[in-house]
Amino acid sequence: MKLADPITLLPKTHKTTFTRLNNVSIYTVEDLLMYRPRRYADYSRTSPIGSIQAGETVTAQGVVISAKTRYIRRNFTMQEVVIHDESGELKLMWFNQPYIVSSIAKVGNILAVAGTAEQLGKKLIMKPMEYEQIPSTEITNIENHLQPNSDLLGNQHLALGNMSKHTGKIVPIYSQRGGLSTRLIREKVQHVIHNLDENEIQEWLPLDIVSTNRLTPYAKALCQSHAPSSLDDAESAQKRLAFDELFTIHLAHALVKNEWKKRQNSTVCAGSSEIEARMKLCIQDLPFTLTQSQLSVWKNIHMDMGKTHPMNRFLQGDVGSGKTVVAALAAYFAHLHGYRTLFMCPTQILANQHFKTISSLLKNTGVQVELITGQSRKKVKVKVKDAQPAHIVVGTHALITSSHEFAGVGLIVIDEQHRFGVVQRAILKDKAINESSQSPHLLTMTATPIPRTVALTLFGDLDISVLTDMPMGRLPIRTYLAPASKRTSAYEWIRTQIKSTGCQVFVVCPRIQNDEADEDDETQESIKAVEAETTVLQKDIFPELAVGMLHGKMKSAEKEAVMQKFRDKAYDILVTTTVVEVGIDIPNATIMVIEGTERYGLAQLHQLRGRVGRGSAQSYCVLFTSDGRTESERLAFFAKTTSGMELAEYDFRRRGPGNIYGTAQHGTGEFDIANLFDFELVSRTQDAAKQFASHYTPHKYPAVAKRLLAYTSLSIAKD
Ligand code: ADP
Ligand code: MG
Repeated sequence: MKLADPITLLPKTHKTTFTRLNNVSIYTVEDLLMYRPRRYADYSRTSPIGSIQAGETVTAQGVVISAKTRYIRRNFTMQEVVIHDESGELKLMWFNQPYIVSSIAKVGNILAVAGTAEQLGKKLIMKPMEYEQIPSTEITNIENHLQPNSDLLGNQHLALGNMSKHTGKIVPIYSQRGGLSTRLIREKVQHVIHNLDENEIQEWLPLDIVSTNRLTPYAKALCQSHAPSSLDDAESAQKRLAFDELFTIHLAHALVKNEWKKRQNSTVCAGSSEIEARMKLCIQDLPFTLTQSQLSVWKNIHMDMGKTHPMNRFLQGDVGSGKTVVAALAAYFAHLHGYRTLFMCPTQILANQHFKTISSLLKNTGVQVELITGQSRKKVKVKVKDAQPAHIVVGTHALITSSHEFAGVGLIVIDEQHRFGVVQRAILKDKAINESSQSPHLLTMTATPIPRTVALTLFGDLDISVLTDMPMGRLPIRTYLAPASKRTSAYEWIRTQIKSTGCQVFVVCPRIQNDEADEDDETQESIKAVEAETTVLQKDIFPELAVGMLHGKMKSAEKEAVMQKFRDKAYDILVTTTVVEVGIDIPNATIMVIEGTERYGLAQLHQLRGRVGRGSAQSYCVLFTSDGRTESERLAFFAKTTSGMELAEYDFRRRGPGNIYGTAQHGTGEFDIANLFDFELVSRTQDAAKQFASHYTPHKYPAVAKRLLAYTSLSIAKD
């Protein structure tokens, strides 16, 4: 067999198996070999039946002397099989697997089983984890050697173990996706390993990298990962393959970064002393003192923007840490050098808010700020092309629609970047590059907390800054998971809070999905739910208070009017969908009520909760569930954890990176998550990749080029 052979060449394989393999992107023999085991079970210990001890995990084999299926109750049967060798008998039990008796464990067959022996009364039994029939051609062979307590026996069993697929050895356990069982994958992979032509698997890494990092050679690692002779071997094999995976990503990023640095045509903002003085004045003029980390991130950005290659910086800061002002400073700095800034946000509401915030932060500087959203496009377009074009243009993705042309763009800010696809980001960047001959600086921002090593890997093509501290005087938000029985008293408490402190309240209704709508679409049902909730709260619960309503399907002007009224405190309570999820900043709102909490991911809940706690007053978050129950471990964790980073790690380990960071687009869907947390491995692969990138050419290293191509085409294909 060859690596490039299609899997349809596998013998004795059912048509549906091919379909299932295809469904998990396995088309060739090589794809199959790349399907990595998740873990291993050690059944390499073999023992004559008579010497097995209770609690021992072991492989045993013997001749079947009886086999029957017993009916226990409806839909529940037990298979009882007894095997023997010269040293004794062992009773085996399976449940609901009648085919074991009807096809494999027929009297007279030789059966090998692996599992942990248990004491049942006076007898030992086993509920095998693995089993297989030893082909009859080997029967004589076995029986000749079945002598208790002989050393030879152990060896003989081991030798057989090498021919066996599921017992008598360390067996790989695969993730069972798309209806593929571990057993089936194991059988197919073992067949491939035994039939692969020699030298088919070539080392793809440069040999010096293999030796400096003391890596298992590639061919060996690939085979050992599926058929290890010891757990140590399995571990080194997996280590080697993890190295490959991370190395490839880091190399791709290092090459992108090098390319980026070669562009010596950025919109250089070198900062004369006059400009520096104005910046200082602007910072002094802000309504608050910048935090230490805001200052140090600003310093980084300031330095980046003065370079001849464009900045590509990724700013990470938990909800409410104050990213907007940092971006505003960068925009002002660009303006002082005669460059325009495009500020892109994922929603109209957020664009509106940023427009106001930035205008107000920079009100004494003479900077002109414009707003462009889908709705306002026509009106503003004229202005943008005016003789006096806006210095900062805030907008939604409408900014990248072709009807807009922006000259002299020096900085692009993308807020809540995870809400945009890779492609959208690239278009915006390219657009700006095309319109001017220079490459603008790029600042992307996110509130999604990303563990350091994960960020280094997944966003390794960017320079990363983190806002590590919150503005002074913030109190941690208190979160309560409220059972249905507490609803009335919760409402009473909210009423008292509003009356005594004049605070405001968000009530978020769950998004109701239907099959037709996109995940991000607000369905008719969701809107109805918001309308119904608004009516109930206004009429029945809080008749004396003002209750407003906001959802994504409202006209832009309507939405803005509602937000403005809320900002102006004309509403005490705002009932809304998750349109308020990102970015919304209304410091006087200090209570967040979330309905149907169980329907949200932790990251989303954290974002929603982050709408409060944005001033110095104590803020609260009250969580209700659809069925009124409050036992969820996940929600309990959320209620007691305010750190976005801890929530992210919790989510990350359970759900994988894809859902959380939109990293499906990185082609890392099948990423071994643990590797992303392995600081040593992440930094070692990154160092190796950086070094190698400096002298890499596809011509010199075709095998590496092939790997890179597979990785990058995957990341593009997945977008
Ligand atoms: P995010 O990082 O979530 O985008 P924002 O930029 O919206 O956060 O800032 C959240 C709130 O904190 C805003 O009301 C903003 O005015 C305020 N803020 C930002 N920086 C500071 C600071 N250094 N001191 C006090 N308040 C600040
Ligand atoms: Mg923000």
